[in-house]
Amino acid sequence: MKKILLIFICIFSIGFVSSFGYMISHLFTPVQQDIVATVCIDPGHGGYDSGAIGNDGTYEKDIALEVSLRIGSMISKMDPSIQIIYTRQSDVISWPENESEDLKARVDIGQRADFYISIHCNSNESTDMSGYCFYIKETDTQSRRICQSISDHLKKFHYSSNNGIESTNVQSLYVVDQLDIPSILFEIGYISNDNECKKMQSWLIQNIIAYSTSKAIVDQIHKIYS
Ligand SMILES: [Zn+2]
Repeated sequence: MKKILLIFICIFSIGFVSSFGYMISHLFTPVQQDIVATVCIDPGHGGYDSGAIGNDGTYEKDIALEVSLRIGSMISKMDPSIQIIYTRQSDVISWPENESEDLKARVDIGQRADFYISIHCNSNESTDMSGYCFYIKETDTQSRRICQSISDHLKKFHYSSNNGIESTNVQSLYVVDQLDIPSILFEIGYISNDNECKKMQSWLIQNIIAYSTSKAIVDQIHKIYS
């Protein structure tokens, strides 16, 4: 009789503990959010490819990564129902070290999203050149709206000069042209300009660029999906 009672207590205890654990895990597990849209953020270059190099030795790939991660994190905070995917989240790349495989891999990852944005720094022999610009497909009205909105935000923060929105009809860009979703290549400033290079490495300017970009993308997604 004593043995049966002991077994009963054991079963009851296990049942109670597992039920209690189940209850607790449900209380504290965040509710699964429905995904409204997916944004692919592509930090330009990476790994074997440093991109352009500033006069102080700064690599374009490093600035592009820092700004990209900030954009992703801000979009998630502004609207957790927007899923973020990256082509890379560190200096480690997931594709072979050659340009054609590199670009193809970025497009393959981008194809899984509803929006794509690639972050780069511009460079020119003339170290006086400054400002930001965008590349989009000629007929891509959604990206045009996003770029316009990013420029409006950046203007409020008095960040550099707006060099406009270029069509890939004028200068073709593989990643933008190959994707059949709204796609933007954003040149956030000139790494060859010492002053702009320094600015793009600063916490404040990176956050201003990231905020302006995130807000523009989130607003556009809300316009389409709500
Ligand atoms: Zn670049």
